[in-house]
Amino acid sequence: MGDNEFNFVKEAFDTNWIAPLGPHVNGFEHDLEEFTGSKYAAALSSGTAALHLALIMLGIGPGDEVICQSFTFSATANPIVYLGALPVFIDSEPETWNMDPELLEQAIKDGIAKGKKPKAIVPVHLYGMPAKIEQIMAIANRYDIPVIEDAAEALGSTINGKAAGTFGVMGILSFNGNKIITTSGGGALISDEEKFITQSRFLATQARDNAPHYQHSQIGYNYRMSNVCAGIGRGQMQVLADRVNQRRKVYEYYVANLSNLPGITFLPEPDGYFSNRWLTTILVDPEKANGIDREAIRISLEKENIESRPLWKPMHLQPVFQKYSSYINGISEQLFNTGLCLPSGSNLTENDLNRVVNNIKLNY
Ligand SMILES: *Cc1c(COP(=O)(O)O)cnc(C)c1O
Repeated sequence: MGDNEFNFVKEAFDTNWIAPLGPHVNGFEHDLEEFTGSKYAAALSSGTAALHLALIMLGIGPGDEVICQSFTFSATANPIVYLGALPVFIDSEPETWNMDPELLEQAIKDGIAKGKKPKAIVPVHLYGMPAKIEQIMAIANRYDIPVIEDAAEALGSTINGKAAGTFGVMGILSFNGNKIITTSGGGALISDEEKFITQSRFLATQARDNAPHYQHSQIGYNYRMSNVCAGIGRGQMQVLADRVNQRRKVYEYYVANLSNLPGITFLPEPDGYFSNRWLTTILVDPEKANGIDREAIRISLEKENIESRPLWKPMHLQPVFQKYSSYINGISEQLFNTGLCLPSGSNLTENDLNRVVNNIKLNY
């Protein structure tokens, strides 16, 4: 937390606005619009909820195919299955580790050929590194398929100065406890199309029709963010730019101190790409690293009570998603087998970082 979150929360208490609506919700939405450059934002209970509503608003239902990045957290794919739709998983390209545009186009062509054009595309800006979203948008536009960007990990990331999450028809953000800023739990839907944001607010508050009694002509959800959480969010927005700076400094520290070790590589930003560096990730090639692999480093750090974690296990390799179709080039599996997320918190001191680096060096 920064300095002002508590003041916003206190204001919510002092004014008795504790409901899933109120001035902080409106204020937080406004802050998000301003920061991302998106015209409209709806503050919701989670990023998963935002994605669920986005898919509902695109009319996705049982049996529909939705193209989804395989290398991600399961929350990207789960809402597709909530709706009875079928995810089609797409592997990664090596430059950003996100959705491979070539495989995407292949999957679209195959879908059309069998008479089942995909209903939506869900790319992810994983670890804060923007996907090749301009290429993905060009393909999506060519086939007229809507894109929902999962920018849950990428608040503060941009491509040629434009915020991740603002390229597709809708984007989703997350303020879960582990993200770059947090509202303890929460998310948002962003869009330049007002109708999606208006409708998402309606669906997120139980789809109550405009009547003095409780009248419903649609199934609703309880997905709105509370005024207390939004108060935390407003305080966090004031420190977001600092958090991005801090995370980027963590990344630079690791690069400066580890990249001379044989077999360790990082994920540099392609030209025009700006990552919030939510997590710093390394790849470890045992053939070049004297036989040391990712697990050896992870276990050695663990012995020092330092937590690190393998990269996301791709969805096409997850037991729960294995039955769905996928377009695979081996890259995400390779990333999963050789990659490690290093401690990346915004509050790490140079001393903390030095401990991590020294422990890794000891293995060599
Ligand atoms: C965290 C996360 C989500 C889900 O956000 P919640 O707010 O936790 O529901 C979705 N996608 C990705 C890539 C995430 O990291």
